[in-house]
Amino acid sequence: MHNSEFSNPHVARNYAPLPVMLTRGEGAYLWDVAGRRYIDMMSAYSAVSLGHAHPRILAKLAEQAQRLAVPSRAFFDDRLGPFLEELCKVTGLDVALPMNSGAEAVETAIKAARRWGNHVKGIDSPDIVVADNNFHGRTTTIISFSSQSQYRDGFGPFTPGFRSAPFGDLAAFEAAVTPNTAAILVEPIQGEAGVIVPPDGWLAGLRRLCDKRGILLLLDEVQSGLGRSGTWFAFQHENVVPDGVMLGKALGGGVLPVSAFVAKRDVMNVFTPGSHGSTFGGNTLAAAVGLEALRVIRDERLVERSQALGARMLQRLHGMRAPGLADVRGRGLWAGVELDPRYASARDICEGLIDRGVLTTATHDTVVRLAPPFVISQDDLDLALDAVAETISSFDAPRNVRDAAAGADRRLKT
Ligand code: PLP
Repeated sequence: MHNSEFSNPHVARNYAPLPVMLTRGEGAYLWDVAGRRYIDMMSAYSAVSLGHAHPRILAKLAEQAQRLAVPSRAFFDDRLGPFLEELCKVTGLDVALPMNSGAEAVETAIKAARRWGNHVKGIDSPDIVVADNNFHGRTTTIISFSSQSQYRDGFGPFTPGFRSAPFGDLAAFEAAVTPNTAAILVEPIQGEAGVIVPPDGWLAGLRRLCDKRGILLLLDEVQSGLGRSGTWFAFQHENVVPDGVMLGKALGGGVLPVSAFVAKRDVMNVFTPGSHGSTFGGNTLAAAVGLEALRVIRDERLVERSQALGARMLQRLHGMRAPGLADVRGRGLWAGVELDPRYASARDICEGLIDRGVLTTATHDTVVRLAPPFVISQDDLDLALDAVAETISSFDAPRNVRDAAAGADRRLKT
């Protein structure tokens, strides 16, 4: 397919997709319009952790869509309660508020923290401490505390009330907390920053800090949650119980946007009828699919699978040697492969992987993300990792050396 065939002037350019035109997905496979099959190594940013077209999810989607889909939250329905009850059970928390996108779940957590700070702690203008290089979504308030200029440039004025400290640095977080602080809000593992795993003990340290200062610990598990890091939630790696957690992505079973803020009762109690909501948030169809997604993860032991396959993936990645490979990080079935930019960009590698039948994306210029659906077979995982190793190794000389050699080659031919 020629590059010009991908461009459509009616599609807003807020993404720069890789040159592949997809039309079908099943399990850990995707097919392009020419019928070529690829191994999916990114699961739509973990939204498709259960695999594409999961039969149980599709059956539930069809059955529920034919019965009742969107009656609105103006009425009770028979699916929302069981879904949120199950969410509380798996998180160990008390009350859940359903939304649609991950960013909306984060907005909900921010509103809860502010109102809790105001109503419960009596702070006039509560602030929230966040981590440098965070990614929590793209709303105007959320980008207000991003440290990435690409998410902020030209979108000001920004929402005040956030203080930032280096991810993984407990002393810096301690110093950032003021008498006006209501909460600490972080990703337990930073996904979009390049799959950054904090030092052991950091989350537990944040929990102690929050207890000492009487503030909330809110964890954004939109990407790290529901098995991606090898446990149901990344906070379980340190036996930490947060005051609230944000979930999304895989919660929709790979077919719908379903998100939630789940919290302890005294936190969620700050919401009163009318103070927060969403037309589609917690609709009957989303609730039925969300509940089925949680049941599929449990019944198919997908968390255990993520843990076992992830250990294999990380062991293989750590064993890779190539001049252009700078670092490998990860936890569970989730890795960031950092490249030496002198050799190749992450996009170069992703484009090279397309030719080898593997799809994934870059996060920033230098990190290739690997986060396949949990249902991927061990053989396909191995094939995909072979392709990753081959592609990175194919960039065996620094770009300037390659460019000079290509120039000399052209001169010889003319
Ligand atoms: N929080 C985290 C940790 C994320 O990784 C993302 C998306 O990548 C979001 C929030 C935003 O989710 P959404 O794109 O569904 O709004």
